[in-house]
Amino acid sequence: MHVELDCPWVSVSGGLRLLAPDGRSFRLRGATASADGHVEVPAKVAHHLYEAGVVTEPCDLRVAVVSDHGCSDDLVRGLTARRIDITTWVRTPEPGNTRDLRRISGHANLDVHVVVICPRTLLGGRDVAEQCHRAGIPSVVAWGRHHWAVLGPISDGSPGCQHCADMAMAARDPDWVTMARSMKEGEYDPAVTEWLVNRIERAALSIRDSTVSRRPKTFHVRTIAGERSIEVPAQPGCHCWLSEEPCSTLMRSAA
Ligand SMILES: [Zn+2]
Repeated sequence: MHVELDCPWVSVSGGLRLLAPDGRSFRLRGATASADGHVEVPAKVAHHLYEAGVVTEPCDLRVAVVSDHGCSDDLVRGLTARRIDITTWVRTPEPGNTRDLRRISGHANLDVHVVVICPRTLLGGRDVAEQCHRAGIPSVVAWGRHHWAVLGPISDGSPGCQHCADMAMAARDPDWVTMARSMKEGEYDPAVTEWLVNRIERAALSIRDSTVSRRPKTFHVRTIAGERSIEVPAQPGCHCWLSEEPCSTLMRSAA
């Protein structure tokens, strides 16, 4: 069984010696560790090592990051540190870039739990969100700059998606579209990166959890003062709302 060491270790004759958090040390006969601490051991040994607090269980979360900008490097590093399996796709800005989701949903990556879209502007990346919707892959838009970040609602096929959030914001203030289009992503600070990583990990865990049938549809905003969460009601006319209700139900509701 494949485990990842979560402790200091040294190579000794015929194996490894591991230092547990409580001060004990363990000798692991016949084992070798890769440079980043991956070890192959029998399942029974893995269980004992886990109980001793010297290895982490694989988290088995798979996330794809689609980026129009280098700031997502921070996000990728943060997610990788949580042992999340990451696929990345940095889109080139040249016009005529016809690559699409096949880059991240090929044979090897059919089952990512969520696609994180990191657009250059606050209103960017909606084309990827649309591709995800058509492919049935959950997606979320993450955008940030120094001190400030947003994470859109999870677009997962149930009512309330990024498009709904965009429409709700524009309904509140028509200037939002112009503002959002001109807002360029800036350098993340460590606090913003950590907040986004936490939120993305929580979203991926929720999507992986098959007992969760409906996730809250919320638009999260991170400021220095804290966090604000805005509920995103499904907008009449959005494809996510229409796809849930059969036409006859809609007509009855209208009547
Ligand atoms: Zn929607």
